[in-house]
Amino acid sequence: MAFVLVSAGVFGLLIGSFLNVVAYRVPAGLSIVSPGSACPGCGNAITARDNVPLLSWILLRARCRHCDMRIPVRYPLVEAGTGVAFVVAALPFAGLQVSSDPTIALASVIELIAFLYLAAISVVLAVIDLDTRRLPDRIVLPGYAVGAALLGATAILRGDLAPLAVAGVGAAAAAGFFGLLHLLGGMGLGDVKLAGVVGLFLGFLGVAQLTVGIAAGFAIGALVGVALIVLQRRSRKSTIPFGPWILAGAWVGVLAGKPLADAYLRLVGLA
Ligand SMILES: [Zn+2]
Repeated sequence: MAFVLVSAGVFGLLIGSFLNVVAYRVPAGLSIVSPGSACPGCGNAITARDNVPLLSWILLRARCRHCDMRIPVRYPLVEAGTGVAFVVAALPFAGLQVSSDPTIALASVIELIAFLYLAAISVVLAVIDLDTRRLPDRIVLPGYAVGAALLGATAILRGDLAPLAVAGVGAAAAAGFFGLLHLLGGMGLGDVKLAGVVGLFLGFLGVAQLTVGIAAGFAIGALVGVALIVLQRRSRKSTIPFGPWILAGAWVGVLAGKPLADAYLRLVGLA
């Protein structure tokens, strides 16, 4: 099903273009819909032909058409990154046999949309956290409602509410685990709220994905934190953005949670 992956990639490029706007405006407290994009150098509106993901940046040779101001490479990178993230999110769906039952087929489409949404907020929150060391509530908190609505619809259409219950437990467990780390110090409250959203999506997939995803996020973050302290001699008091690693761990859980959990259980002789 190359069609699913190519469509997801192209859709991701377009969403990535929007995420550039979100990553710039949300931390600044600006509206994400108006006014339209303009060059920060000369104020000229950016027209549709100069707003094509990746291509415009290449054709314009990274400069504004009007004032020659440099367009930072991060713009095409976020677009390309979102394209890749959408392809990755669509991977588990690419091999699925399209069900002849329209209800079941619709459930898969809604579940795919849920994980494309998770991919989009993963990219934009990682960028914002690295930029500003913050995970804005305006992006994190709607994740609970959007996740509950889309995953809830998926579960209802499939006539199986069990994954929804695990999703709820996952959100509470992940937020609880990171909440404990917050109380012990060093973990921001934004990380706790994000962990809950991640736990919701991972729990819906299963206990293996939930456990591996949360553990991977914590492990990657801890490794990066220790590496930063050693390499840059950062003090242990300085804050390290943890959001990107929670999100990276989540995707390890989504894509490889089941095989990794099975391998671990075999290793310790439990399976
Ligand atoms: Zn300009």
